[in-house]
Amino acid sequence: MRALVFSSEGTLSLEERPTPVPGYKEVLVETAAVGICGTDVHVLDGEFEGTEFPLVPGHEATGTIRAVGDGVNEGVFDFHVGDRVAINPSKTCGECEFCVNGHQNLCRFWDGLGVVSSDGAAQQLFVAPAGNVYKLKPETDLFEAALIEPLACAIRGWDILPRRLGDHVLVYGSGTMGLLMAQLGRRAGAATVTIVDLNEDRLQTAAECGIDLRYTTPDDAARDKWDVVIDCTGNIRAIEDALTRVKPAGYFQDFGVAPSDRTAQFSPFRVYRDELTIVGSMAVHNSFGRAVELFEAGAINARAMISHSFTLDDYADALAMFRAGHGRKLQVRPNDTESRVLIG
Ligand SMILES: [Zn+2]
Ligand SMILES: [Zn+2]
Repeated sequence: MRALVFSSEGTLSLEERPTPVPGYKEVLVETAAVGICGTDVHVLDGEFEGTEFPLVPGHEATGTIRAVGDGVNEGVFDFHVGDRVAINPSKTCGECEFCVNGHQNLCRFWDGLGVVSSDGAAQQLFVAPAGNVYKLKPETDLFEAALIEPLACAIRGWDILPRRLGDHVLVYGSGTMGLLMAQLGRRAGAATVTIVDLNEDRLQTAAECGIDLRYTTPDDAARDKWDVVIDCTGNIRAIEDALTRVKPAGYFQDFGVAPSDRTAQFSPFRVYRDELTIVGSMAVHNSFGRAVELFEAGAINARAMISHSFTLDDYADALAMFRAGHGRKLQVRPNDTESRVLIG
């Protein structure tokens, strides 16, 4: 079996490895697709706290169950060889202060498949705890369904925002997360959803996802303040600008991942005077099952969002393309024999 391995900080290699064996309450999954995202780049660059090399990356995965370990079906699960599944990568300790108080996504010992110490899905087969596995319908496209994991993160984002019918929502960044937050905003009952991105090509994807108000700067929009403003860029200048666009009593969500050593400036007076609320959102939290349901209900235009697929051999090309900001969502298909351009 072939596996893409981050062997040390900044170094990746393709390795032949024995087929993993699922342990107690684990399943073996043959990978269909695994999305590439900024987290993979942070992990490879050694910027993700706690990563242990060597590590197989890949946390946005779908596949087909090929073996079921002991004890899997003794409780509530009913998993069998041939089931088509999506995998929640988050593993939590269940014991720390945050786990026992219902904030498992903030677990002090948080591990993510392909992120910290457990191998991920950028390999032909991988092992996942049964509790992280979600069955998909037979008609669900396994390649497109690799968007379920980022969708689960976006649902977590909306879980901690007010969802008042008729709100006006502004999203910074028309990449994968911005597109998901914007599409969910429409579902959540916003009167308008505006998306801004400096890159016109990315705004075209937003158009295909049904987001009508698209600008390279919010200065061009018909309004100057929004009830909910969400940054999905992690860019400090975007974040500073976004905070000035929040209506009194409104919310700003810091969703994009800014570099951990950077700071942003804002007016504390405005936060006080206008009762602004600033919230963060970290990964998946009780949202994976709903992401499966919303995905299968057609809540997002997955076809418009994925532009390229890569074989394991071309993994480095995928990362280079991601770093260059080209294409839409990129994914790796470890069992495919050729890399493909899905949207040119
Ligand atoms: Zn991701
Ligand atoms: Zn914990």
